[in-house]
Amino acid sequence: MNWFSRQIQKLIFTEGPAREPGHPSRYRRMWRNTVITVAAVAIIPLLGITFVNYYLYHQSFQKELTEPILRITSITKRSLESFLEERIAAAKYVSSREKPEDLFDQKKLAGIFSRMRKSFGGIVDIGVIDSTGIMRTYAGPYDLAGKNYRNQDWFDKMLVRGVYVSDVFLGHRQLPHFIVAVKNEDEHAKPIIFRATIDMEWMVRQIQVAGLKQNCDVFLLNQSGSLQTPSRLFGEALSQFPGRLPRYSEDSELIEEVTIQKETYLMGYAYIAQSPFLFVIIANNRDLNKGWLSYQREMLAFLAISIIAIVAIIMGITTNWVTRIKEADQRREASLHNIEHQNRMASIGRLAAGVAHEINNPMAIINEKAGLVNDLLNLSDDDSPLKEKLRKQTDSIIKSVARCSEITHRLLGFARHMDVKHEPVAVDALIRDVLGFLEKEAVYRDIQVEMSVPDSLPTIHSDKGQLQQLFLNLINNAFDAMHRNGRIDISVVNQKPDKVVVAIRDSGVGIPQEHLDRIFEPFFTTKKSKGTGLGLSITYGIVQKLRGSISVESEIGKGTTFTVTLPVGGPA
Ligand code: ADP
Ligand code: MG
Repeated sequence: MNWFSRQIQKLIFTEGPAREPGHPSRYRRMWRNTVITVAAVAIIPLLGITFVNYYLYHQSFQKELTEPILRITSITKRSLESFLEERIAAAKYVSSREKPEDLFDQKKLAGIFSRMRKSFGGIVDIGVIDSTGIMRTYAGPYDLAGKNYRNQDWFDKMLVRGVYVSDVFLGHRQLPHFIVAVKNEDEHAKPIIFRATIDMEWMVRQIQVAGLKQNCDVFLLNQSGSLQTPSRLFGEALSQFPGRLPRYSEDSELIEEVTIQKETYLMGYAYIAQSPFLFVIIANNRDLNKGWLSYQREMLAFLAISIIAIVAIIMGITTNWVTRIKEADQRREASLHNIEHQNRMASIGRLAAGVAHEINNPMAIINEKAGLVNDLLNLSDDDSPLKEKLRKQTDSIIKSVARCSEITHRLLGFARHMDVKHEPVAVDALIRDVLGFLEKEAVYRDIQVEMSVPDSLPTIHSDKGQLQQLFLNLINNAFDAMHRNGRIDISVVNQKPDKVVVAIRDSGVGIPQEHLDRIFEPFFTTKKSKGTGLGLSITYGIVQKLRGSISVESEIGKGTTFTVTLPVGGPA
């Protein structure tokens, strides 16, 4: 990771050739665009697949949740309906089979009651009501005979419909129960109503079996939303259901997700035929969704890890790739720069050689004429002070001309395509020879020269004379750069497989940055009249001819290192 961030830092914060300040470098842009594009190509399909997967899984999960609830709803609906059906059928059977006079006979009714109780559970009492609404006979635990039902609203409904199932109510015993009543007619077409009270306990038992299975809340509601059986969540029988009553439907149905008292539930419901009842089963969404939530978490974690891994890999590969491009660009730029430099040097060299050649002839004439003037002066034996003065002038002319021709000769040497010799050279011995020339000066100026050479230095094939010239120039410059007490370190290294590298380090004044580019140019000198500015340009030419290379590093006040690399095989 460390390497990684360093690479990115390098790319992002070290400037390539930025066109405008404040704009990211070309490589940074390249890096960013590549990362974004490749990541998008990899991540978008991943997101798509995950999304589809999520959707399908969610659907099947929902189905798995809702199916058992639907099944229980429809089973319970059927069993409640058949329970009611049985009791209604029994009431119908009794009221149509028994003669009216038997029904209105208290004793006979008691017999019917005990027979019915034996065959059907849950019957609390029975009674027979005549067309005027008076309960004429009654069998059961209370004394209801003679009671008038004329004004109860179920009585009228009953007369119209023929069959009636009441809402649940608390009777005298404070137990919830409901009434099933059927209408029949006597021979004068007068209505006779047979009425049975049914204990709610029986219904409760029927539905509780369903609730146990799924750990859900189950209960019955009537059409006005009042609980007909106790509910685990919403209280005792006859309290009001806090949710909205679902839409009427004959089939068992399922409403997904209802919100009751700020909690969401999955609710299944079914209207029970021939009755005011509505069966409801409710499951807490939070419990149901536990599995789903954990799946969601796992999927998100997987997605996050995948994306992080993809992005990390893409960043790694892109960093590597862009770094390589950057390095290749830098190499190309450097070699272009090199070629340009070489071309410049070559043309300056040719120009200089041309100039030197042209100057040589007039110089020779000046020299000759000055010599002639001198000779003439010598011939005359007049000792006037003027003669002395003249001789001084001519001497100075001759000296200057000598310096000029030294320069022109060196220039010509620099430009001339001298044939390169090809002889075995021991580089270390050659450098020692050169140092030999300078020994006296070194002692005089208190300059220490150290040399390090490995044991097995290969003999290279090269041009001895030109190499001497090369090292002489470099070491001379090092001397010039130092005052007293300087130090020169020369190290020779065998760079495998086929190069010998000579580094000449001095502790001199160093070369300012703005000069580094120009020191190899002919006539570039900082030494005023003492220097010609040709040493390094000649050195450069020699290195090129010998198929080597030269580089320089310098720090102001600390010193300068010139490094010359020579091929062991020599100039081919
Ligand atoms: P010259 O020695 O005649 O000035 P050169 O071509 O040999 O010409 O060197 C060019 C210039 O490069 C020098 O004038 C000097 O400023 C700089 N230079 C070369 N070598 C060194 C060195 N080792 N330390 C400091 N400056 C140097
Ligand atoms: Mg020099």
